[in-house]
This record gives sequence, C-alpha cells and structure tokens, in this order.
Amino acid sequence: MSTRRDQLAAGLASVGRRIEAAAQAAGRSPTSITLVVVTKTFPAADVQLLAELGVTDVGENRHPEARDKAAAVAAPLTWHFVGGLQTNKARAVAGYADLVHSVDRERLVDALADGASRAGRHLDCLVQVSLDPPGAADSRSGAKVDEVPALTDQIAAAEALRLRGVMAVAPLAADPARAYARLAEVAASVQAAHPTALAVSAGMSGDLEAAVAVGATHVRIGRAILGERPPNR
Ligand SMILES: *Cc1c(COP(=O)(O)O)cnc(C)c1O
Repeated sequence: MSTRRDQLAAGLASVGRRIEAAAQAAGRSPTSITLVVVTKTFPAADVQLLAELGVTDVGENRHPEARDKAAAVAAPLTWHFVGGLQTNKARAVAGYADLVHSVDRERLVDALADGASRAGRHLDCLVQVSLDPPGAADSRSGAKVDEVPALTDQIAAAEALRLRGVMAVAPLAADPARAYARLAEVAASVQAAHPTALAVSAGMSGDLEAAVAVGATHVRIGRAILGERPPNR
C-alpha cells in the first residue's frame, strides 16, 4: 500500500515533468519557474512531508488556516498567500507571509504595509489582475487592468512592501492561453515602470502549460500534487 509520502512524491514528480516539458517547449529554463505547492485544506503533516521531499514554497488561501500551518511546520519554507484577502486580516497575514499574490485594492496595500512595518518585516507583493471580460457575471477577485498602474506605484512607494510583479487566475469560462497572454502584456507594462517587478504568478493544476508558455515565473499547484479538495476550496 502506498503511503501519503509516496503519493506526494509521485504528484511532485509528475508536476515536475510537466513544468520541464512546458519550459522546454517555450525555450525557457525550468529553473526560471518556481513551483508553489498550494496546500490549502490539507494538514500541516502534508506540508512537513512536502518539505522533506524538497519543496521550498507553499501556498495558502485563508487566514487563520495559513497562520496555523506556518506556525506548526518547523521546516524553513517560503509561505505564499494566494487567496482573496479581507482588509481586517491583512495585518495578521503580513506577520507570517513571505509573498502575498492577491493584492488588488488600495486599502489592502495600506493594511499590509502597516502590518509589515509593525512586525518589522519587508513583505513581497504581487498585484492580482482580473482577466474577466468587462461585465462578466462570475467576476473573480483582482484589480481591473486600468487600476494596475496606481496600485503598483502605491506598493512600490510603501516602505515595508516590495513590488515583485503580477498574478492572475484564469477566468472559468475563458481560454487560459488567451487570458495568460493578456496577463503577460500587463506584466510587461508593469515591468516598464518597475524593472525589478519580474514575477508573473499564473498557472494551476489544469493549465500550467498555458501559463509557462507565456512566461509564468510562479505556478500555483494544488490538486495535481495533493489530490482533490472539497468543492470551492
Ligand atoms: C487553490 C488555488 C490554486 C491551486 O489550484 P489547483 O487547481 O488545486 O492546482 C492556485 N491558485 C489559487 C489562487 C488558488 O486558490
């Protein structure tokens, strides 16, 4: 019978092969892509096993689940916060997260900056960009494309924050390749104004190839490594 450790190792190997193949197809080095293993809903014991299997970056989408896991796992890991973030939880998240992928409004920037400075930390941030067509009903979180310049400037100007780039989730109904191509355009204009904001966080279990093809530097993978979750998580 295979152990949880074997299952996770198999998932990591298979996702590693997919990233390598996608990078090769795009003429990119696989080392230019950071695998963020999204461990939401799974126990801290899984995070510990992943760390033992060589994972360096993990992602969570809810506070306080993220805080509790970060406190429970002793292994040195980079913690990514990838979920929609309420302003009243931002100060707490700024105390333990290393990179927040989901910054999408000015009040959130203020709260993260305040939390990071109180904690005596520097917090890396990505602006989450909505790739929904205008007027889409199932609107996912993220700043509208025309709001991105003001937000990136605001983050760059905050003492305790560091602007690292952009992030998006492909809209449910859309072709991920087209959505991620749009994100790549937004990333290029952010980089023109902020040359060190090079990160592009895109690609999940179902569509990482489309994201790597247009330059994703961070892929966020849950199910393909850890297995299925309850619906809507
Ligand atoms: C859950 C989640 C992921 C991982 O999705 P999978 O389909 O399990 O790979 C990636 N990004 C965000 C923002 C998520 O909430």
